[in-house]
Amino acid sequence: MVIKRRPRWTNWAGIYSCRPLSIDSPASEDEIVAIVLAAAERGERVKVVGSGHSFTDIACTEGRLIKLDRYNKVLEVDRDTRTVRVQAGITILQLSAALAAAGLAMENIGDVGYQTISGAISTATHGTGERFRNISSQVVAATMVLASGEVLHCSAASEPEIFKAVQVSLGSLGVLSTVTLRCVPAYNIRSVQQPNKVEELLDRFDELCAVNDHFEFFWWPHTEVAQAISNNRTLDPAPDNGRRAGFGAWVNDILLENHTFGLIQRAAQLRRSWIPHLARITARTMSRKVMTDRSDRIFANERLVRFAEMEYALPRGQIVEAVREIRAMIQRTGFLISFPVEVRAAAQDDISLSTAYGRPTGYIAVHVFNKFEFEPYFREVEAIMNAHDGRPHWGKLHFQTAATLRPRYPMWYPFMAVRRRLDPTGMFSNSYIDRVLGDVKHG
Ligand SMILES: Cc1cc2nc3c(=O)[nH]c(=O)nc-3n(C[C@H](O)[C@H](O)[C@H](O)COP(=O)(O)OP(=O)(O)OC[C@H]3O[C@@H](n4cnc5c(N)ncnc54)[C@H](O)[C@@H]3O)c2cc1C
Repeated sequence: MVIKRRPRWTNWAGIYSCRPLSIDSPASEDEIVAIVLAAAERGERVKVVGSGHSFTDIACTEGRLIKLDRYNKVLEVDRDTRTVRVQAGITILQLSAALAAAGLAMENIGDVGYQTISGAISTATHGTGERFRNISSQVVAATMVLASGEVLHCSAASEPEIFKAVQVSLGSLGVLSTVTLRCVPAYNIRSVQQPNKVEELLDRFDELCAVNDHFEFFWWPHTEVAQAISNNRTLDPAPDNGRRAGFGAWVNDILLENHTFGLIQRAAQLRRSWIPHLARITARTMSRKVMTDRSDRIFANERLVRFAEMEYALPRGQIVEAVREIRAMIQRTGFLISFPVEVRAAAQDDISLSTAYGRPTGYIAVHVFNKFEFEPYFREVEAIMNAHDGRPHWGKLHFQTAATLRPRYPMWYPFMAVRRRLDPTGMFSNSYIDRVLGDVKHG
């Protein structure tokens, strides 16, 4: 007897893996429909995976896994309306390159560009900047393959309730097939990075968010130092026509920085008690850097060291207090933390399950090297976030359930009504979706 082994799939962080019945890479919408219909007939669950850059088991399944790495084309660029229509599997890096060639850009993105557009949309991926909303807010229309095999078109004008749910769905409604995004004329960013006293940045957080287009900082636990990043739109040209200051800068920014950081993590792995000392050395070596380049090249960094991350969205006005509470908690517990704490800001939006729904938002992210245990630290941070009415990033680690999340989302029930309508049997659910959204019939 031949026993067919199931394929194995693991997320980027290496924290979660699963053994789906199959992993298919369709190249057309018809092929997606055929996979969904075949699974429906056999009563199997289906999950789509983007680039696997979520830190949770959100993309895991024991059913059929669909990868969209062959379904990643730009379908139409309209320079007049500044919109682009793409297949859902395109990555933000691929999309940004295609837009740049057409003199366009995305209004804002996160700090990497490896995600697929559909993965980024599904989890409410965001960048920083108090006047800028998340990537889901840049979507103006979408098509989705439903459990019935039907292809649904939605936008603010057509099926508006469904559209608000599709804009951030955790992949729980169907297979996003094509996405139309609102773009802006291509722009350059002047980026200034410099070390500062963390308390000074906290005191001036509101002012720094107001005067910069995209402000954020990374605080190093066990030190008083944070690296502040102020990114501002500029008419200045990028050096030598658009390469981020050439190969030398790439070696310095990407290779050396990532490898030095990797070495620090390995040293920390060798002896945890070295962490505070390593953090102080890191803080001392941080320096001022100024660069100008195409927006996506400034926003999207390379991340070569793998880690686990939790991130919470808080009402903007509570961010500074919450960061101070995390500082006090690390002091009190004696946790040894070798990764920085990241603090950002974003504009509010009106998308049902967006972490920035209905309130100006700040984000606090905590990280640990992926070889270290994350749970004790993340649980302490989560307790602080709970006290500030925090909403966890859907693609990052957290310990919430549907019962604890429901009161934090005013549009929870309208979203669930759409979910019941589009996926009445829970075909696009998995154990993560069951935990955070609940059973489709009662969620
Ligand atoms: C190094 C790193 C940096 C990051 N930086 C940021 C950041 O700056 N800001 C931020 O907000 N987040 C950030 N994230 C988180 C990341 O943006 C999200 O987790 C995002 O969802 C990952 O996209 P993905 O394509 O890998 O999706 P996956 O993780 O593969 O999938 C995420 C969800 O999307 C669903 N999905 C994907 N495609 C489809 C589709 N076509 N139809 C239906 N459902 C679909 C999946 O089923 C799953 O539920 C970062 C993650 C990493 C690893």
